[in-house]
Amino acid sequence: MRILISVGTRPNFIKVTRFKAVAAALGLDLSIVHTGQHYDDNMAKVFFDQFDLRPDRLISLKAKGPSAQIGEMIMGLTDVIADVKPDVLLTPGDVNSTLAAAIAANKTGTPLAHLESGLRSHDRTMPEEINRILVDEISDHLFVTEKSGLHNLADVVDGAKRIHFVGNTMIDTLVAFQPQIQASSILSECQLEEGKFVLMTMHRPATVDHLEGLQLIIDVLGLCAPRKVLFPMHPRTLARFEEFGLKSALMDVSHLVLTEPLGYFAFQRLVESAEFILTDSGGIQEESTFKQVPCITVRPNTERPITCEIGTNVLVESKLDSISKAIQEMDCSDAKIPDLWDGHSTERVLEVFA
Ligand code: UDP
Repeated sequence: MRILISVGTRPNFIKVTRFKAVAAALGLDLSIVHTGQHYDDNMAKVFFDQFDLRPDRLISLKAKGPSAQIGEMIMGLTDVIADVKPDVLLTPGDVNSTLAAAIAANKTGTPLAHLESGLRSHDRTMPEEINRILVDEISDHLFVTEKSGLHNLADVVDGAKRIHFVGNTMIDTLVAFQPQIQASSILSECQLEEGKFVLMTMHRPATVDHLEGLQLIIDVLGLCAPRKVLFPMHPRTLARFEEFGLKSALMDVSHLVLTEPLGYFAFQRLVESAEFILTDSGGIQEESTFKQVPCITVRPNTERPITCEIGTNVLVESKLDSISKAIQEMDCSDAKIPDLWDGHSTERVLEVFA
């Protein structure tokens, strides 16, 4: 059985860290192609180094813009598929690289497996939601992280599709790399005390592509005072602060600790040590649920509802009053860890092909 995994972005890399080792133990031939969507040191190389995750093939993207990049990724992946001749192509997540992989598999007649299938925000203005719907529709194997996925997939089931509730391979990575996470010196490097700072990430177009959204981030930093706020800034967010002329206002916030995007070990050390997290990320809602750290997600919806139902996550609208209320009312005392988020989801995925 030959499996080809296609990854392209930071959250994709984090979901596939254990696949090569588990495949080897099960006698499966597994290789990884990186589509090149995230390519720089902070968003890609650091993860390959930390996880010792060596992609076997790399597509060098030259195109700019989503449509041109998707086209180039499909062409590159078609060549890789012709060469590797996989029995199945597996791709995680909901990014443009995921969509490109799904189309390349479909057009070459390669069976397709979607990892992190069935998630739905029910918000079609999110580019990721369209990717999720399209990829699930043409996948043969649907690997589901939480029970809402089973419900959402009821519509796309037909006789040929196989749905597998396997849990969350992102949590496998968190469990497997605990020693390295604990060894990170990021708290002392940034002069932060355990439980006495806020961790913030914001990068979605709906949050940062307009002046009001950027101003809200600055106002929210004010709300968090006097706590220090550690903000590892996504390249997209930095570009918007510069474009809208708000970078100097941001730099004036004295309790802000601004960094470049961080490597996984340092970032997870911050996740588990923060008093609370403010984010618009998808994956961080899950990691904070697993670590039982309060997470305030500044979005009208989530494709990961289990994190709100039994985890530590709350959704808030992008208004200062609502965020202030959420900070005051945070209570995670009844939080639980979702079913099958136990560090062994990768095994459950690959056993399907063994
Ligand atoms: N992450 C990281 N360093 C950072 C910010 C995030 O390693 O500076 C990790 C985070 O722990 C999570 C993943 O990147 O595993 C989430 O990526 P992102 O928020 O970009 O994507 P999303 O999950 O929203 O698709």
